Amino acid sequence: MRCRRPTKKRVWNQRGRLEAGSILGKTLSIAKIAIDLSAPNLKRAYDYLIPDELAAETELGSTVIVPVRQRKCLGYVVGIEDESATDGLKSILGLVEGRRFISPAHIDLSHWMADHYLTSFSEIIKLTLPPGGQPNLQTLLELANEGSQHEPALKWLADNGGCATRRRMEGAFTKYKIQSLIKNGALKQRFRLREPSVKPLIQEFADLNKDVDISAVRGQKQLLVLNELTKNAPIPVKELLGRVEASRQTLNSLVSKGFVSIFSKPMKRDSKTSFTNAKTSPITLNQEQDHALTAITSALTQNTYHSFLLEGITGSGKTEVYMRAAEICLKDDKSVIFLVPEISLLPQLVERLANRFGKQVALLHSGLKAGERFDAWHEVANGNAKVVVGPRSALFAPVDNLGLIVLDEEHETSYKQNVTPRYDARVVARKLARINNAALVMGSATPSLESQSLVRSEGTRLRLQNRVFGFNEPSIEIVDMRETPRIESGTGLISKILFNNLKQTIDQGHKAILLLNRRGFANFLLCRKCGYVPVCANCAISLTFHKVSNRLRCHHCGLSKSAPETCPECKSSNWKFGGIGTQRIEGELTTLFPETRVIRMDSDSTSARGAHHRHLQNFYETEGAILLGTQMIAKGLDFPDVALVGIINADTALNIPDFRAAERTAQLLTQVSGRSGRGPIPGKVIIQTYNPDNYAVRAVESSYSDFCEIETKHRSDLDYPPFTSIINIIFSSQNEKLVEPAARELAQNLIQVLKEKAQILDPVPAPISRIKGRWRWNLMIVTKDPKWVKKILRTDVDLTSRHKNVKIIADVDPVWLL
Ligand code: ADP
Ligand code: ZN
Ligand code: ZN
Repeated sequence: MRCRRPTKKRVWNQRGRLEAGSILGKTLSIAKIAIDLSAPNLKRAYDYLIPDELAAETELGSTVIVPVRQRKCLGYVVGIEDESATDGLKSILGLVEGRRFISPAHIDLSHWMADHYLTSFSEIIKLTLPPGGQPNLQTLLELANEGSQHEPALKWLADNGGCATRRRMEGAFTKYKIQSLIKNGALKQRFRLREPSVKPLIQEFADLNKDVDISAVRGQKQLLVLNELTKNAPIPVKELLGRVEASRQTLNSLVSKGFVSIFSKPMKRDSKTSFTNAKTSPITLNQEQDHALTAITSALTQNTYHSFLLEGITGSGKTEVYMRAAEICLKDDKSVIFLVPEISLLPQLVERLANRFGKQVALLHSGLKAGERFDAWHEVANGNAKVVVGPRSALFAPVDNLGLIVLDEEHETSYKQNVTPRYDARVVARKLARINNAALVMGSATPSLESQSLVRSEGTRLRLQNRVFGFNEPSIEIVDMRETPRIESGTGLISKILFNNLKQTIDQGHKAILLLNRRGFANFLLCRKCGYVPVCANCAISLTFHKVSNRLRCHHCGLSKSAPETCPECKSSNWKFGGIGTQRIEGELTTLFPETRVIRMDSDSTSARGAHHRHLQNFYETEGAILLGTQMIAKGLDFPDVALVGIINADTALNIPDFRAAERTAQLLTQVSGRSGRGPIPGKVIIQTYNPDNYAVRAVESSYSDFCEIETKHRSDLDYPPFTSIINIIFSSQNEKLVEPAARELAQNLIQVLKEKAQILDPVPAPISRIKGRWRWNLMIVTKDPKWVKKILRTDVDLTSRHKNVKIIADVDPVWLL
């Protein structure tokens, strides 16, 4: 379907809108156009005639201008046919110059995604467009004929080089005049999109002046700055100030005293991070790696779709295998998409890829400035960059000849987009690989149950069971918080055992990582004495506490009961409601270890551009430092001298009202434990918990696969994924009263049409019951035949609300039920 088919049939048009050039005998074609408008009820594509003068250039993926009612709209050619079932077709007005970006593979993929995710096609097609926000359409007018111009407007245009924007010309002549000149053929229209412009990047550098005597300097900060400059100059000003935490004034006063000079230099735009990672010596693959690579290579050389699940503990050398497979692709002139959960969290990985593949790497992610992103995108589109690294959206990069998709840290929930279109990169990657006859390699130390189940039915499971030579498995200690003594001061969250281990680690000059997982809920009950959390008897997920009604409610099945006065386990009435934040623990640590550098990393401390990277660099460079953070620190870090990992409260993730809570806990604990003992120093992991016997907590000690065996059985018994599929219908409104009736009505309707093919759970308020002023309810459909159910939902059920002011969104295969 690369070019348009020559047409034999004539398209009959009853209303006589056929263009003069397309009467009998001439070829005619119909373009199916996805219109770039976000309007409800927009059809997937509309038919338009391709006028003769555009016939040669119009192809699949072209960007065009089409008339929609009285407006001109952007549209994308997603099909070309020789017949239309519609009468009275209008013609395409023009092609947008220099834009043909949607590949036939992406068009196929978009059709599939719209069906699979019950979402609008235009939302999906937007994912494949170049970055830069809403494009700015320019209409250009030019003279149709050369020669003398008597008409003043035409003369004006001739004097202006024969071409001007319509806007400019409308400043000089009336709209009516211009329109009539277009109509009678004296003026031609062309269309162009204004792309984000890329300004050169100017960077300031600081340099130490020669032959100055710095012994006269007294200021502490000034000394720090000078000290840094003697080691490292010239250095970008921003970096310098960040490193020594000095202000611009400090630097300025050094400049005025003549110690330092500042100069500016235009920089090559380069978004790749520069993170120092010492190991660069050539590597010989071990036997397991070699086996995995051989299997992947064989799929690559056969040019057929094949999927792999590469299961290997952290430090077992997975990344090395991905990179070798990518090299093989590049040699064959094929492209690679390398997906990572969140690029800003993985500076080390990005650095490794950039080292290995140099200029062939393009980073695509939202942390880039518009211009940077636009550049990178075009490097891929024009074939200069063949290794695309990015989060889930990198799947839609304009790569040519895709050979391999790598999806690292497959278990990460950020692969699922939580706003429309709510797609899951793990699922979409599979489809894209299939369409392109490419290989898909997903890797993780803790693969999700879904992927494990999929690889059993289609694909190959590869294992790396040993850490690369030189690393030892860390030793694990589970601390029972119900009875262990705490240190006297502060939050009561640090046990004596953890404190002693921290002290020992720091005294030896080694580093420690402490995890306080806050992604959890304030609104569940926790018994302070024994750690008991009320759980739904039907669903095995924790009950959410509603303060106003003093009731506990299951956000899965709807069960509701009054909150108990005393703990059913230990009879204590000492309930706890909230959580404790990283900032308070940070305060406590600085009191306990006044000499130690404590680096806090959470969403507050890393919101500034580059902050994440700076914190990690600090941690990397500081001997005996403590890195304290939320789950963002569990990912991909590779520091050889981390001797201790402490998990302050292993239970937070367990208490999320979600059937995946146990899986998430096991994954998080296993992942974060893998951060210790990545070098010659033996690693130790301390896990503080109120649930020392919970199988998810135990997973760290035994093995993740033992955990999966138990969890798989639970899921099967309770009919949860991967044994069923879930479609969550989210209702929301600013008016609280409207949401519940809308949800109940649709639930009734669904019970009628889906019958025994699906289980319709009672609608419940969403665990986060209000977001941005909108009240939310969830309605869950659980089914073993999702294909059929989705077909019915698309054809027989009106998901666009009949209730005014209630928005209804389908979330297919949700990963968070919040
Ligand atoms: P993973 O991705 O499974 O965590 P990596 O591929 O990052 O593991 O490997 C961990 C470390 O071991 C890296 O520094 C890597 O360069 C190194 N490494 C990987 N494979 C080998 C090998 N076969 N021999 C020696 N070192 C290796
Ligand atoms: Zn209790
Ligand atoms: Zn329940």
